[in-house]
Amino acid sequence: MGAHGSKDTDRDRRSCLTMLNGKPYNMVHVITVSKEDYLKAILEAESEGEPVISATLAHWLKVSPPAVTMAVRRLKKDGLVRVNSEGRVSLTPAGRKIARKLTVRHHLIERMLVEIFGMEWYKVHDEAERLEHAVSPDFESRLLAKLGRGVACPHGNLTELESPASRRRRGLLLLAQAEPGKNFEVSGIYERDRHLLEFLEQRGIRPGAKVHVAHRNYDQTLTLTTGAGRVALGVSAAEKVWVKAANGKSSAKN
Ligand SMILES: [Zn+2]
Ligand SMILES: [Zn+2]
Repeated sequence: MGAHGSKDTDRDRRSCLTMLNGKPYNMVHVITVSKEDYLKAILEAESEGEPVISATLAHWLKVSPPAVTMAVRRLKKDGLVRVNSEGRVSLTPAGRKIARKLTVRHHLIERMLVEIFGMEWYKVHDEAERLEHAVSPDFESRLLAKLGRGVACPHGNLTELESPASRRRRGLLLLAQAEPGKNFEVSGIYERDRHLLEFLEQRGIRPGAKVHVAHRNYDQTLTLTTGAGRVALGVSAAEKVWVKAANGKSSAKN
């Protein structure tokens, strides 16, 4: 993608949407990374309990480390983030407020795409990443009125980003830690990785799906029975899936 995408240049350039980097690399879709995207990624990393350093952001947003350095410097100047002496980035209250708002909007758009337009659950995150920047407060309040509040997004994640600790308090556990011989229901899935979502979908693992854990193998891969049949799942995927114990002992077939 050598030429500049015309879509990007047409994009809304309100002050809160300052373009910080128009050249993402090693990326299938061209996503222009805005100030808001940085704030949202920082909020998300914080809620995942990950230390937020430039490398994490570069990886998450698929941009180069120098681009992140530049962006973070800018956000700091705007009073939206703090950077400590070890290079850890955290949100200021002002930065957090913007990130929260965007996250709520992101989930509303995902729900609109699934609930109103019937789009596949594994596609809507990427779509929402683009659309969320274009939604006016007026349209947002109509979406909210239509869809209602407090419902999980199509990936089973709550509107307010939830920490692993809080998910555990709700009785959830990672599929990677699920006990063999038992049945589980998929609750929430890490949604930032489209390839992962499609991989899971092909194996019958989607929010609400029933999963029977048959074995944990020596190399920690899991043998599962899902609606797609008997499937194997490695740890790196299994630790991106939150499940809850399912009632009943019957073998999960759907
Ligand atoms: Zn999403
Ligand atoms: Zn989602």
